[in-house]
Amino acid sequence: MPTHICIIGGGPGGNTCATVAAALGAEVTLVEREIVGGAAHLRDCVPSKAMIATGGELIELRRARTMGLEASGRLDLEALRARVRRIEEHLHCGIVELLSSQGVRLVHGTARLTGPRSVAIRVPEGGEEHLEADVVVLATGSRPRIPDWAPVDGRRVLTTRQAYPPPEMPEHLCVVGSGVTGVEFTHMFRALGAEVTLVVSRQQVLPGKDPEVAAVLETAFAERGVRLLKGARAVGIEVRDDGVTVACDDGRRVDATHALLAVGSEPNSEDLGLDAAGLATDERGCVPVDHNCRTAVPSVYAVGDLSGRLPLSSVAAMQGRKVAEHVMGLHVRPHRHLDYDKAASAIFTDPEVADVGLAEAEAHAAGRRTRVTKVPFATNAKALIDGDPRGFVKVISDPATGTVLGGSIVGRHAAELISVIAVAVRNGLRVSDLAESLLVHPALAEALAEAAL
Ligand SMILES: Cc1cc2nc3c(=O)[nH]c(=O)nc-3n(C[C@H](O)[C@H](O)[C@H](O)COP(=O)(O)OP(=O)(O)OC[C@H]3O[C@@H](n4cnc5c(N)ncnc54)[C@H](O)[C@@H]3O)c2cc1C
Repeated sequence: MPTHICIIGGGPGGNTCATVAAALGAEVTLVEREIVGGAAHLRDCVPSKAMIATGGELIELRRARTMGLEASGRLDLEALRARVRRIEEHLHCGIVELLSSQGVRLVHGTARLTGPRSVAIRVPEGGEEHLEADVVVLATGSRPRIPDWAPVDGRRVLTTRQAYPPPEMPEHLCVVGSGVTGVEFTHMFRALGAEVTLVVSRQQVLPGKDPEVAAVLETAFAERGVRLLKGARAVGIEVRDDGVTVACDDGRRVDATHALLAVGSEPNSEDLGLDAAGLATDERGCVPVDHNCRTAVPSVYAVGDLSGRLPLSSVAAMQGRKVAEHVMGLHVRPHRHLDYDKAASAIFTDPEVADVGLAEAEAHAAGRRTRVTKVPFATNAKALIDGDPRGFVKVISDPATGTVLGGSIVGRHAAELISVIAVAVRNGLRVSDLAESLLVHPALAEALAEAAL
C-alpha cells in the first residue's frame, strides 16, 4: 500500500509537497478551501508583484524622458484589475494541471484534524468527508494582522488583500507599517499616481535591514515625493465619508483619503483541530516544528507561514519539498536540512532591495570578523547605460578563507542579481570564485564580481 499523505492548504507549501510526494509514489489528497495556489497566488505575492510591475512601467515611461524619449502613461484601473486576475488564473490552472498529472486527489473544502492521522473535510455542498492518512501536512498559511484600533472596511481602510487594486484609486494613501510589505505598497501606489504618506515606527524604513540599504530607498522615496512620518506609531484611525485620519502615539495625525495596514500577519491555526491531534501552538499562534518540519506529533508536519519560520513563498515551497522527501524516506541526514539563514529575499521597490546570508550589522553585533566589499552601481557601465546608477552591491566574506557569507544589493534588478550570491553562500564558494567568473559585459552582474575582488 502506498503511503497516504493528506495535505491541508494548497499554497506554495501544500502544493509543492503534494507534487513532490506524488512523484515519489505517495497517494496524496490535497484539501483547499478556496483556490489552489493559495494566498501566495491569489492574495499576496503574485497580485502585489503584478501591480508593482504596472507601476514600474509607469516609472520607466517617466525615466524614458531622460533618455531622449517623450512618453506618457495613463492608468486604466479596470485593465489593471483584469491583468492581475489573468495572471492569477494562469498560474492557478498551471498548478492544477501539474497536480492532476501527478495523480493528486484535489478536494475542495475546509479541513481539520480529528486525530493524529485523521481529518474531517467540510465540503461546500454541505456535509463532511472523513479520511485516514499515514501523514497529515498542515499548510494553511496566514492572513493580514488587523490591530483592534483599525476599523477595516475594505473601502477607506484596507488590508493588503483589499488593494489589488482597491475599489477606487486613493488620492492620498496613508500606509501604516514600514516593513517589507509597507514599503512595497508605498512604492506601488506612489508609482500608480497616489500621494503617499508612510508611517514609520522607527527611525528608518525596513527596520532590521542594512541602514545603508534603507537610506538608498528613503532617498528614492523622498525624490518621488513620498512623505515619511518617522518615529510614529499609529494607534487609531477615524473614518469619515470623504477620508480618514490616522492618529499616532506622539499626537501627530495624518489626513488622507485612504489608509492601508501593513503591520504583519497571523497564522491560520484556529479551527484546525490541533487539540484533537495532541498539538498546541506557540505564543504567536504558529505550530512549532523541528528541522524536518515535523511537529511534536510524529505523523503531523507543518510547513509555510503556519510553521513560524521565514514567511516567504520560496521557503514554504522548499519546506513542502523537504517534507515530501522526508516522509518518503529520502534526505533524512542533517546536511539536507533547510538552512533558513541562507534564504535569499527581495523587496520589490524602485530600486529593488535584496539580501542573503550574513548581514554586515549582524556580523558586527556578533563580534564576528568579516571582510565587507562594496561596489556602487555608479561605476557600472550597464547601470549608466540604463540610466539608473542608484545603489550598490555589498559582499560579506570570511577574511581568513574568502568564503562568501552574505550579500546585500540595492539597485535595479537586485532581486535577480542576489541569486548569484545565494548560490555562492549555499555552496560555500569563495570570493575568488565570483571574481574569476567570466561574466557578460556590460552587465549589472559585473558589480558582483568586482565586489568580490
Ligand atoms: C503582500 C504580500 C506580498 C508577499 N510577497 C512575497 C514575495 O514577493 N515573495 C515571497 O517569497 N513571499 C511573499 N509573501 C509571503 C508569501 O505570500 C507567504 O509566505 C506564502 O503565501 C506562504 O505560503 P503557505 O503555503 O504557507 O500558505 P498560503 O499561500 O497562505 O496558502 C495557504 C492555503 O491554505 C488554505 N487553507 C487555510 N485553512 C484551510 C483549511 N482549514 N482547509 C483547507 N484549506 C485551508 C488557504 O485557503 C490558502 O489557500 C508575501 C506576503 C504578503 C502578505
